[in-house]
Amino acid sequence: MHTGWAIAGGMAGIVIGVLLRGPVFRLSVPSGDRVRHDCARCGASLPGWLSPRCGQCRAWLGAPGVLELAAAAVLALLLGRFGGQPVVAAFAFLGVLGVALGAIDIAVHRLPNWLTLPAYPVLVALLGAAALISDRGADLERALLGGCALAGAFLILALLRPGQLGGGDVKLAGLAGLALGWLGWHTLILGAALGFVLCAVVSVTLLATRRLTLSSSICFGPFLLGGAILAIVGVG
Ligand SMILES: [Zn+2]
Repeated sequence: MHTGWAIAGGMAGIVIGVLLRGPVFRLSVPSGDRVRHDCARCGASLPGWLSPRCGQCRAWLGAPGVLELAAAAVLALLLGRFGGQPVVAAFAFLGVLGVALGAIDIAVHRLPNWLTLPAYPVLVALLGAAALISDRGADLERALLGGCALAGAFLILALLRPGQLGGGDVKLAGLAGLALGWLGWHTLILGAALGFVLCAVVSVTLLATRRLTLSSSICFGPFLLGGAILAIVGVG
């Protein structure tokens, strides 16, 4: 763990968390609904996408501190793990995207294509640049295979258990597979397994405390991302 990088990541995460408030608020709409353009309190048109507050009534968008704390924690862990390596940009990008996607999935149970699909070329380009700079072609090759493998495995699961995993989970699994695959096949398997373990632990806890019933659906995106981060930070 590089302490200086971790502190820098935590500080950057607070700023990035503020900037994520606007996009997460606008994209937290049920599937098929239009992206939100109006303030929930006064109904005025919102200013730019990265503005965290309504321009009219100055109300903050989203719950206070949640995105800031999540982004700070994720970036502190990832920069602490990869600080100084060319691949840090790829993992930091996926970390920030993951915070936004996790928040939207918790709010409205979906992972918008609008975020997952454009992330593929960006993540592949960042991993490709890191492979070129640090001469790690084999890692890039394994990352690409890992992305295909995890997306393929989730596609089979989604087809076998419709309603539990959706298309958004398949696309997110491909992104997580790219990052996990860069680190090795054992990291990929560990990350995916930890996602299911986290989901099971939280589901059982919520069932036991009666905050969930057996017929409730639970969003899997945050668990997939949490498992991936635990595996990424814990290995090596
Ligand atoms: Zn307002």
